[in-house]
Amino acid sequence: VSATLRSERIALDPPLPAALRRDVEQGVYYCSDLIADARVDRAAGAWIELDLLGVSDAELSDLTRVVRDWVERTVASSLAYEDTIAREWGRPEAGFRATPEQVLASADLHSMGEGLVAYGPRLASVFGALRELWDRLAAEVGATPLVLPAVATLEHMQRCDFLRQFPQLLSFVTHFREDFGVIDRYAEACRRGDTESACAPPAQDMSSFRRMLRPAICYHVYPCFEGEQLAGDLRLVHAWGDCFRYESRNTTGLDRLFDFRMYEVVALGSADAVHRWRSGMMERVVERFEALGLPGRLKTSNDPFFVSGSVLKSTFQRAHDLKYELEVPFPNREGHLAVASFNEHQDFFASRFGITTRDGEVASSGCSAFGLDRILAALLVHHGTDVNAWPAPTRQTLGLNT
Ligand code: 5GP
Ligand code: ZN
Repeated sequence: VSATLRSERIALDPPLPAALRRDVEQGVYYCSDLIADARVDRAAGAWIELDLLGVSDAELSDLTRVVRDWVERTVASSLAYEDTIAREWGRPEAGFRATPEQVLASADLHSMGEGLVAYGPRLASVFGALRELWDRLAAEVGATPLVLPAVATLEHMQRCDFLRQFPQLLSFVTHFREDFGVIDRYAEACRRGDTESACAPPAQDMSSFRRMLRPAICYHVYPCFEGEQLAGDLRLVHAWGDCFRYESRNTTGLDRLFDFRMYEVVALGSADAVHRWRSGMMERVVERFEALGLPGRLKTSNDPFFVSGSVLKSTFQRAHDLKYELEVPFPNREGHLAVASFNEHQDFFASRFGITTRDGEVASSGCSAFGLDRILAALLVHHGTDVNAWPAPTRQTLGLNT
């Protein structure tokens, strides 16, 4: 049975502050799984429009109340401010060569389900070239590679304090209980072609959840240095791989995936050394984006935390300029796509993992994270879907000329 879709506009009074419009539009999905789509009045913040799945009039008034309460709490608990732009380069007015829809329609891009994409040979080689570009940069700054698992234990993520801050993003990993009764019954149902049991095994047949898919790379770096005293002023490592964030209905093209690829360079050292490293890293990365022919800007930012059902902007990160994002102009609602971030964690992780500096003090850490799929998406919309026709400097920067 296909549920009927109805659109409802909820007036917001007082209007939503500009700085919260995007977070509310993306966070409102977590109010109810009946919300199929959401639009916030970007111009004035006076309404939020919801496309609802099979909602009766009675349910509608409940849902309206839930959404209004949530928006109210979010506004009350957030500091609404405008991010500051630290730097801007390139010619954003140069225009786009392809739409995100054209990118998605590329014959070399295969959808493997919602938020899951595969690249065929042509895009895979660009993807590989992009990874090698960051490999060269990582080597240039003196980072050494690590190979890390894509799964993290919940004990580990709890130790990193991730679980309470971003519960909406978690994806748990489970398996069957060790019980041949359970396992054989499942195998038998699958053998019969029973799609229902194959796709939704009963919860009581599964073991309890002790693991999750990693949401970022750097969480696994700290345990590798647990209890260590650093020999030098700064220790740099790099790693890349798939990261997973459940983004509800926000999952779109290459720019918002469930399974996306991240490249990270992670720094451990004295507070001063990490801070200087991050500034230098931003310089080098901006140079690379210029060489790729991608305009952009660096701006202060912060991660919206979800606490007791509302989005809380991290005033802490903001107050200390702990997060910068690199944004590239992109034909989406925001007009920009965040393709990389530069973060300082102060002693947050090092204190949890007993990592100390050469001088015996609790170390600081920082990371710079690149969203490889997003950078690929940015290249495709700016330079077009025909990789062979990309500007010579872009191809040269990626080593695609050979
Ligand atoms: P952060 O840890 O700063 O939130 O994310 C680091 C980088 O990962 C972002 O700058 C972005 O490029 C990439 N990223 C984060 N979320 C997504 C997503 O949902 N899809 C894709 N493709 N990339 C993402
Ligand atoms: Zn990180």
